[in-house]
Amino acid sequence: AVEIRDLHKYFGDNEVLKGIDFTVEPGQVVCVIGPSGSGKSTLLRCVNLLETPTKGKVFVNGRELTHPDADIDATRRQVGMVFQQFNLFPHLTALQNVMIAQQRVLNRSKAEAEIVARENLDKVGVADKCHEYPGKLSGGQQQRVAIARALAMNPALMLFDEPTSALDPELVGDVLAVMRKLAEEGMTMLVVTHEMGFAREVADRVVFMDGGVIVEDGTPAQVVGDPQQERTRSFLRRVL
Ligand code: ATP
Ligand code: MG
Repeated sequence: AVEIRDLHKYFGDNEVLKGIDFTVEPGQVVCVIGPSGSGKSTLLRCVNLLETPTKGKVFVNGRELTHPDADIDATRRQVGMVFQQFNLFPHLTALQNVMIAQQRVLNRSKAEAEIVARENLDKVGVADKCHEYPGKLSGGQQQRVAIARALAMNPALMLFDEPTSALDPELVGDVLAVMRKLAEEGMTMLVVTHEMGFAREVADRVVFMDGGVIVEDGTPAQVVGDPQQERTRSFLRRVL
């Protein structure tokens, strides 16, 4: 589970997260929606300590990441992250991209890393591309390699920050299908997305953020289907 307690983040004087509280239970998929600048990426980045929260606590599987004595590397290993820009190493093949962190961070042997890499590339549907360099792959294929790379680390939790926003429309479906499969397999997922169809069909909960606070938190039927706040309604009118 992920527990976020009274999370605040300042950049200088700018308070970007103003006291965020929520929990993602094991196996749940929570989608975070909200306008540009509302703090969605900052929230995700605080969950794997790419940003240091100014105040508040974050727990992953009972372990407090924000504790001064926390082993940040150990916690990061449990959290997979997929970005809008795929961030693959351009000079490594798809297979090598999925192997490298397994070898360097988990000390897996080359042979073992390759087996795990091939399994995960197969799972996301790009096994036939394993010897290609990222530059030769479509955006959708690159993003699926990035997902395979995160999965190869056996994360307890996957974070996705607008994983389909940089893709051509015809490639979005393949990536969403992989995410849907992960959700069905019981992966715990926190997903920032503008894909309202995905949020409605796959999410257990939808969190609407605006101005650094959670405005609404509930089932997709509640938050997307029957929003209670004018701010949520106005956002949904723009994106639906
Ligand atoms: P988008 O939908 O455009 O991705 P977002 O909801 O993800 O937006 P954030 O990227 O979390 O929003 O940004 C929230 C606010 O924090 C913005 O005002 C942004 O300018 C500010 N911000 C984010 N990162 C930094 C940083 N490293 N330094 C200073 N300000 C930052
Ligand atoms: Mg963002």
